[in-house]
Amino acid sequence: QATRTPLIAGNWKMNLDHLQAIAFVQKLSWSLGDAKHDFSQVEVSVFPPFTDLRSVQTLISADKLELGFGSQDISEHDSGAYTGEVSGAFLSRLDVQYAIVGHSERRQLHGETDAIVGAKSAAAVRHGIVPVICVGETAEDLEEHGPSAVPVAQLREILSHLKASDEIVVAYEPVWAIGSGQAATAEQAEQVAAALRAVIAEVLGDDRAAATRILYGGSVKSDNIARFMREPNVDGALVGGASLAIDEFSRIVQFKK
Ligand code: PEP
Repeated sequence: QATRTPLIAGNWKMNLDHLQAIAFVQKLSWSLGDAKHDFSQVEVSVFPPFTDLRSVQTLISADKLELGFGSQDISEHDSGAYTGEVSGAFLSRLDVQYAIVGHSERRQLHGETDAIVGAKSAAAVRHGIVPVICVGETAEDLEEHGPSAVPVAQLREILSHLKASDEIVVAYEPVWAIGSGQAATAEQAEQVAAALRAVIAEVLGDDRAAATRILYGGSVKSDNIARFMREPNVDGALVGGASLAIDEFSRIVQFKK
């Protein structure tokens, strides 16, 4: 089995302006520094709003911080008449490593389809950015189709836009678990993560499947992270609400299996 470095990703959503972001990243890196966090064992990335990215990049590069960062979205287009969109070409100039694509809030509030999420994933890869591809079922989907069917179908369509050589991260985020305080069980997360890994193998081959980190997201906290991380197919977490509290996020990062 390939070794996959776990990734803990903090999705700030529409919180923290660029000045607050600077203070936050500084304090988070002090907290992880005090705890002697080994970033080679557990990678940590924050996902601030677009307007914070330049400040976060400057701070991380000036202080040589080991913290990574990504954007919460990316345009499927590279340039042109797309008012309000942000190109991967611009993001890569800011050293953005990752871009979240297909978050359920964008699917629900902005009508993003799997075809759009696939095109955004391909755009990220085109610019040397690793897409963090979010999939997950609603409570109704779960009742109607069981746990894996919808996320598996979503991922299959999205992966049809990619090649075996493209580095990706997949985040399994059951919509009913996001911001609800009701996380999936570790067994549920493992079952779906295993099914998603099988789809990656089917579409992009065994090597890409073995190398791809699959994160769980949905009400992850410091008191449940260890359970998820014990599962063989869960390689990290996408954390929303709890990523905005430095002490709590720092405890999540330092989970003990
Ligand atoms: C998210 O928005 O990606 C998320 C997982 O949120 P929360 O951790 O707050 O459930």
